[in-house]
Amino acid sequence: TRSSVGKTKCLVTGGAGFLGKHLVEKLLASGKYEVVVFDIRDNGDPRVATIVGDLRDAQQVEDALAGVDVVFHCATAAPAAANTANKTLMHDVNVKGTQNIIEGCVTQGITKLVYTSSASVVFDGKDLFNVDEETPYAKNPIDFYTETKILGEKLVLSSNNRSGLTTVALRPSGIFGEHDPLLVPTIVANAKKGKMKFIIGSGKNLMDFTYVGNVAQAHLLAADLLAPGAKCAGKAYFITNADPQPF
Ligand code: NAD
Repeated sequence: TRSSVGKTKCLVTGGAGFLGKHLVEKLLASGKYEVVVFDIRDNGDPRVATIVGDLRDAQQVEDALAGVDVVFHCATAAPAAANTANKTLMHDVNVKGTQNIIEGCVTQGITKLVYTSSASVVFDGKDLFNVDEETPYAKNPIDFYTETKILGEKLVLSSNNRSGLTTVALRPSGIFGEHDPLLVPTIVANAKKGKMKFIIGSGKNLMDFTYVGNVAQAHLLAADLLAPGAKCAGKAYFITNADPQPF
């Protein structure tokens, strides 16, 4: 049933992943949410129910969304080498899977969808400083993963106001924090192999990193604010720790 024992029922796709697990923690800590995870792997936390399912299966997605009030769509196929098989998987999960979420939300009468996008959707290969959300999508995205994030974000934002659904997209850049599976471990592994001794370019490249807890918190705030006609509805927001400063 919807909103059992006075709590808002939410579904976190990718809730067994790096950001997803932090988001689940914050949702539980808020005391306001009953949390269900939808992922191809189990979240493992006994306090949440995991529906082990695949975003590529529209029926599984629709069934998982029954009785849900808020959807946090955090899942992504892991960025990998851009060979044809990986591209197909990435497109099916990140674009068709996102479309399945939207259709499921509409069918199940869900009113709030928070989509985890990426700051890379505006990155054309040149440093961006002090830009805002008016910046257009990249004409030449840096990789296929980013292409799918752009398509997913466009689908989500253009579905705002569809049958009572409200949507918002959040765009973190690099995410770091506890249980980071990728960013810091890769840097450490490369350093151990002696691969961190070189500076490529001027050494003044700009990159934004955001603490995972802040990214998760942004998702809760977005869900709180989403409503028909709300300022944030149908919009995308960069998520950073603070204003970036030049070196
Ligand atoms: P992650 O790989 O740790 O988690 C993704 C989760 O999605 C995994 O648990 C995975 O099992 C699940 N998943 C994959 N395919 C699925 C499918 N077909 N059906 C259901 N679940 C599936 O990734 P993350 O770093 O936690 O990223 C979370 C979100 O944040 C993603 O949308 C990503 O694009 C975005 N993001 C991440 C970063 C970063 O630096 N990590 C930066 C910007 C944006």
